[in-house]
Amino acid sequence: MKPAGIIVHYAEVATKGKNRPTFIKHLARNIGRTLAGLPFGGVQVVSGRLWIPSYSDDPPLEEAYARIRSVYGVASFSPVICAPLELNALKEAALSLVEGRTYETFRVTSRRVFKNQPLASLDVNRQVGEYLWEHHPAKVKLKDPEMEVFIEMLPEGAYLYTDKIPGPRGLPVGVTGKVATLLSGGIDSPVAAARMQRRGCNTILIHFHSHPFLSRASQEKARDLAVHLARSQQVATLYLVPFGELQREIVTVVPPPLRVVLYRRFMLRIAGEIALREHCRALVTGESLGQVASQTLSNMVAIESASPLPVLRPLIGFDKQEIIEEAQRLGTFETSILPDQDCCTLFIPRDPETHAKHDAVAAAEAKLDIDRMCNDALQRMESFDALAPWITRRPRPVPENTEDTEVTEKDRVKNQEPPEPESHAHGED
Ligand code: ATP
Ligand code: MG
Repeated sequence: MKPAGIIVHYAEVATKGKNRPTFIKHLARNIGRTLAGLPFGGVQVVSGRLWIPSYSDDPPLEEAYARIRSVYGVASFSPVICAPLELNALKEAALSLVEGRTYETFRVTSRRVFKNQPLASLDVNRQVGEYLWEHHPAKVKLKDPEMEVFIEMLPEGAYLYTDKIPGPRGLPVGVTGKVATLLSGGIDSPVAAARMQRRGCNTILIHFHSHPFLSRASQEKARDLAVHLARSQQVATLYLVPFGELQREIVTVVPPPLRVVLYRRFMLRIAGEIALREHCRALVTGESLGQVASQTLSNMVAIESASPLPVLRPLIGFDKQEIIEEAQRLGTFETSILPDQDCCTLFIPRDPETHAKHDAVAAAEAKLDIDRMCNDALQRMESFDALAPWITRRPRPVPENTEDTEVTEKDRVKNQEPPEPESHAHGED
């Protein structure tokens, strides 16, 4: 039987106290936007789950699944069929779910969401189980059966399904605020950005490149990674900041060992300024303690003091292998390992400082016109909006403070927002 739609379960969002309605509303909106262009109706909140009806006889389920897997806040989801709350109807619906499938052990797991419903779950388990057994003899097995028929009894009817597809969990993007991730084109920073998305943050992305001293390859990688990260937030604005000129100036007056620390301090200053303009609350990097020379504790302290905003490092305690595995799961690894010429390969000293001292850094920077150098780079930067592949127009931004928003049962969230009066994109592309 064709599924009537998809039911989505959320886990962590269900535990968030008085913010719960806001969280659920964000989750429903994010899923709705993610399914744009597919034949599904608006996402509805029904008794602690989300219900996405399909209006096609043959909905493109694989495509829908691939998209829902990128929505943080989803614990699991299932293609379902619907039936009225009536025993015979449940039996027939359950049978249609297992028809044509082979299994040797099974169980029926029903749940009623409201206690005053006519059917008790134990009765339903037993009677539907017996009916299935008559048509398809197999052993009942309560633990790890080969086939599990789930029946969720809600006031508006029953939802039946057999497959529970795991979601990415976490919190819906948008509920915890906005950050700016420094995106290098390497393996770590896209993983750091995704970690922040998974904790509910919307992120802008900032890439420093050394074109025309080096090729454009790192920018192309940053764009591809931005498109990938946009899958979880629909639109990810990527800033491309020219850094070669600034590096050249640093090289002329700063002794080699301190250069990397200074490059990083300039990155944080410039990224901090962009982040403030974009109303971000923090910067994010892909640093992990001790991974490379610039990532010693002393250097991190020496670098961070140049930042106007707190610097978050979601990968600080990860080792490289763990980050690589996460990049592979996320799908960013293949792009990250493409050869490029990152700006950090330009003018890199052979023996970088691993314990930068405050006084030495201050003395080196005293020779530089910091404000002018940062402003030059800011004036020449470009930006573009990386869109999830299914987005044809930029969604309306949601104000960060959404505490007064209320969700009622069956709240309907539209799939697409009205068009923006003006495009936000500027710079290249
Ligand atoms: P990654 O794999 O993310 O490049 P890495 O192990 O190469 O990290 P570093 O080169 O020391 O480590 O960079 C540390 C962090 O600084 C990166 O994770 C990223 O957040 C930021 N960063 C480095 N280079 C750039 C760049 N060219 N543009 C933007 N951010 C950068
Ligand atoms: Mg790097």
